[in-house]
Order: sequence, then structure tokens, then C-alpha cells
Amino acid sequence: MKRRDFLKSALTASAVVGAAGCGGGAGGEGPAVSTQKKVRWRLTSSFPRSLDTLYGAAEFLCQRVSEMSGGNFEIRAYPAGELVPGLEVLDAVQQGTVQVGQSASYYYIGKNPALAFDCCVPFGMTARQNSAWLHEGGGLELLRELFSDYSIINFPAGNTGAQMGGWFKREISGLADLSGLKMRIPGLGGEVMSRLGVSVQVLAGGEIYPALERGAIDATEWVGPYDDEKLGFHQVASFYYYPGWWEPGPSLSFYANKKAFESLSSEYQAIFTAACREAELIMTARYDALNPPALARLLSAGVKLRPFADDIMSAAKAESLALLEESASADPGYRKIYDHWRGAKDDMNRWFATAELAYARAAYGQPL
Ligand code: CA
Repeated sequence: MKRRDFLKSALTASAVVGAAGCGGGAGGEGPAVSTQKKVRWRLTSSFPRSLDTLYGAAEFLCQRVSEMSGGNFEIRAYPAGELVPGLEVLDAVQQGTVQVGQSASYYYIGKNPALAFDCCVPFGMTARQNSAWLHEGGGLELLRELFSDYSIINFPAGNTGAQMGGWFKREISGLADLSGLKMRIPGLGGEVMSRLGVSVQVLAGGEIYPALERGAIDATEWVGPYDDEKLGFHQVASFYYYPGWWEPGPSLSFYANKKAFESLSSEYQAIFTAACREAELIMTARYDALNPPALARLLSAGVKLRPFADDIMSAAKAESLALLEESASADPGYRKIYDHWRGAKDDMNRWFATAELAYARAAYGQPL
């Protein structure tokens, strides 16, 4: 190195040291140039890497947290099963095995049925309504009280939008055709389907395709065109029904271990919160962008698209609301969240039935 270059770089280096060194300044209350502590967290997801819409939001969160902290706050994401099984994410965050989780809170209704309101319930809110209730309607505060029982702070993490009703090997022309039908459908949707006469089967993701192929089940639901296409259900069941009234706008969640979150600096807490919000918006946008071309591909492969018959929709709605009322009657804690949620939903439904619905009817045209 030439002497002049050496001097120049030595000066630059001392200038940087000087800036950091005198940062304490007149106030004497710590450095003005913050020396950010290195933080390393782990995230475990309920979803496989192949579901890039869902798992992609976890990877996005990690990337944004790193970028916004200049690489000082790093979160490493692990897909379902690598650290802990996909349906044990809440437990892993509660116990502090990991600092963050990505999951769907309706997986944990066995712990407390009211956890479903953090995700969705049959004939519940759409993605937009859910976001309004959570962020601006007081829903998130109520749910955070519930999650504090598990030492978790929950953050909305995105939404799939209204899901599809799923894949059926034969045509379902009305309520009577549901009787005895063997369908893979988990959770509260399964509970309502069972009241409508369906023989409900619970199968993990990888078991569904072979069961449908060999006729062990007659139907299955999954998510929507983009995710369903990857699993190839259209190769073994040709009728694709809509809508998935049991999942009109399921909201995914990030879970932060309360102690871990509270140990972060206020800057890192703000970075994590902002990155969650960004990941939330991106997931929904991705689904809305990726589903239309996926549906077009499925239709060109010969899939027959069908709406559920009116008698199915009205019976399903009545049974869904009855189920929610029964749960509310059984538990005052559930009742508190349910009443708040239902008030917000009914108000928003009246509003959405006005300008939004009139516009949608006029502008959307007929389904494909
Ligand atoms: Ca589903």
C-alpha cells in the first residue's frame, strides 16, 4: 500500500472510531450511535418448504428483520419437522425451544377452542374483514390476552383469502349427495360437514393423494388453485368445488415467545413487528396473484369447476353458526371473544353487502 493511501485509510478508520467513541455526547446517556447487540433466533414453521406461499412468508420475515437491523438481528427459519413437528409449533414457542413460530392457530383448538378466532371459523370473516378486526377493531388485543396463557405474543402473518371447497371424485348436486361421502377435512369444517352427513376423515398432507387415488376417500379439501395444483389432486378427482365456506379468510400467525420478545431492544421489537406486518401483506398479495393462472392451468387440464349447491350452502351456514353458539354457551372465555368477533363481523358484512358487493356483482362477471 502506498503511504498516501495508508494515511487515508488510517484517517477514515479513526474517524469511524471517533464517531462511535464520542457518541455518548453531552447527555452521557449511552451512545448516540447505537451499538446493536447481535441477536440470533430460530423460527419453526407448521408448513413444508414446498408450500412457498406459506413458508415463503417465514423466509421473508427472516430476510426483512436481517435487512432492517443491518444483519445484527438474524432469524433462521426451519420448515415443519426439521426441529419440531408441524402441529407442535405453539408448544415449541411456549417452551422456548425456539423464539418464533409460524402456524395456523386453529390447529390448537384442542387446547382452547377460542384459538380458532386467531385464524378462522366456518362462515367467518374474509381476509379483509379479519385484518380489520385484528388490527383496527380490537381483535388482536383480545387474542393476545388469550395467547398470554401460553407465554406467546401473536402477530398476524398473512392470509390465503377464501379457499376452495376441494376435490370431489363425483358430482355433488345437493345436500343429499353429501350423505356418507368420505371426505378429508380437518377442524371445525369437518365438524360441520359431519353434521351434514359426511363421513369425515383426518389425514396428514402426504397421505391425501394416495387415499383419493385408491378411493379410500371420495373428496378432499386443501387450500386453493396454486397450492392444490402442486399436490396433483386434479389427476385423481375431476370436480373442483367452491367456496371453502369453512375457510373464507384464514389468517396465519407468527408466535413470538413473550420472554424472548420482551428481552429485545425497542428498536428490534419495532423491526420484528414491522417485518411481520410486511410479511402479512405479501402473503395475501401472492395468493391473489398466483391463484388465477393456477386455476386457468387446472381448467385447461380438464378440471370441472362447480359451485356448492344452494341447499348445501344454507345448511352449512346454519350448522356453522349453531356450532359457534354451542361453544360460546360452554365457556365464558370463548363467549367474550366470540361476541366481540361476531359484532364486528355482522357490522362488516352489512357494509360489505353494500358498495363492495354491488361492485363485485357488476364488475367480476361470471366465474370461469
Ligand atoms: Ca383448507
